[in-house]
Amino acid sequence: MSNPFDVIVIGSGPAGYVCAIRCAQLGLTTAVVEQNVNEQAQPLLGGTCLNVGCIPSKALLDSSHRYAEAAGHLSDHGIGVDGVSLDVAGMMARKDKIVSQLTGGVSGLLKANGVSVITGSAVLLAGRQVEVTDASGEKSIHTAGNIVLAAGSEPAAIPPAPVDGDRIVDSTGALCFEAVPERLGVIGAGVIGLELGSVWARLGANVITLEAMDQFLPNMDEQIATESAKIFAKQGLDIRLGARVTDVAVSSDAVSVTYTQNDSSETVEFDRLIVAVGRTPRTEKLFAADSGVTVDERGFVFVNDYCATEAPGVWAVGDIVRGPMLAHKGSEEGVMVAERIHGKAAQLNYDVIPSIIYTHPEVAAVGKTEQDLKAEGVDYKVGSFPFAAIGRAMASGETDGMVKILSDADSDQILGAHVVGPSAADLVQQIVIAIEMAASTEDLQLMVFGHPTMSEAVHEAALAVDGRAIHMVNRAKR
Ligand code: NAD
Repeated sequence: MSNPFDVIVIGSGPAGYVCAIRCAQLGLTTAVVEQNVNEQAQPLLGGTCLNVGCIPSKALLDSSHRYAEAAGHLSDHGIGVDGVSLDVAGMMARKDKIVSQLTGGVSGLLKANGVSVITGSAVLLAGRQVEVTDASGEKSIHTAGNIVLAAGSEPAAIPPAPVDGDRIVDSTGALCFEAVPERLGVIGAGVIGLELGSVWARLGANVITLEAMDQFLPNMDEQIATESAKIFAKQGLDIRLGARVTDVAVSSDAVSVTYTQNDSSETVEFDRLIVAVGRTPRTEKLFAADSGVTVDERGFVFVNDYCATEAPGVWAVGDIVRGPMLAHKGSEEGVMVAERIHGKAAQLNYDVIPSIIYTHPEVAAVGKTEQDLKAEGVDYKVGSFPFAAIGRAMASGETDGMVKILSDADSDQILGAHVVGPSAADLVQQIVIAIEMAASTEDLQLMVFGHPTMSEAVHEAALAVDGRAIHMVNRAKR
């Protein structure tokens, strides 16, 4: 048995590495175990987010947006660009460079904070022991006062469309196509389907997205989801709702997808198919049966509000526990657990976690939706404001979408905000701050917002809650 640590964190994604850094800052002797390695057998840190998730997809979203602008939209600004060409390999190389800079950055941060990195795959045994198997199959046992499970998630599979890494890919494969497929199918109009579908559509692919549910973005505010669907349809995205995939057949030059919609069956042919039907927690081989850790029927580790599992001294954070699978949620759970291990009564406000879809324009939300408030019987006020009436949005040619703010009818306290439009992610973050500071819409009404900015849409939406928006005619005037 080798040197005991105060804390061993299993997994180096945004939940795990952030937890390890905070533990080390608090003076705890900390190790991270990571199974992902590069060709030189060096650990690849950063998990899904840095390697095959948030960061590479945003790199491609940005590159593809610039290409689409140059190829199509700059003429609106009076800029003529002749001979725009696409270098997919160059785009991928840029993405890979960003990923390696960031994963290298995590490695440097762990080192600078004195966190040990153990390479191999870990299994939690009884008695807070961690068995690590390295690439050569050699096993070692490590112990610690506290163990934090942060093993992350992997793409979910559906029986009719098994991923073959060639014609049929998951989100990881869709980040490294070597050429733009002419006909691209996407199964699932969730966050990943929309983001990766957008990347390849902007680069010239004809994209058809098949979504099993009848409702588009059912977890979003209904009005914002409807507005987003209209914007995406205007952009030419073909999103087919109520389309359940029943069969997929791969031939030498295509992949045929059969789906049912409104009781009839249809078959479409694609060059490539992306399966983006959700993610599953990576908990199957994470702990021994006698470790004391338990999971629900979908494989999520049971934890309390503070991410403690049912085994004393064992914690679980990020995608393997309840709540949204979001890097920022996992990171803050990691910080909370580090503080708790150190003896502080830290907690996380799960009601105020922003979520963002990085399409163009972005869709972002925090707090309650209008349908949540109706279902809960809460008496609320609502104000919305379109970007079409925002000077900065007009100047940028980014007039699609709106900001919507919901507040309590009695106290005026802000309960939620929903945005589709330019800089939606950053605008919603303003409301995250407002909700955490228990602000009312009146507080926002009385604040000075810089002009000309996209943020003025937040100010106007807050004013609209009381029928006093300036740059549109209010339904109810006060
Ligand atoms: P998701 O749950 O957001 O969407 C999957 C979609 O696939 C659902 O709408 C579902 O109805 C549909 N679906 C499932 N089976 C289907 C079938 N047989 N035929 C047609 N449609 C089917 O999952 P995702 O987009 O894969 O993302 C996985 C997780 O990763 C999510 O929790 C997401 O929040 C997270 N993520 C977040 C971001 C971000 O924050 N921007 C980006 C990527 C991923």
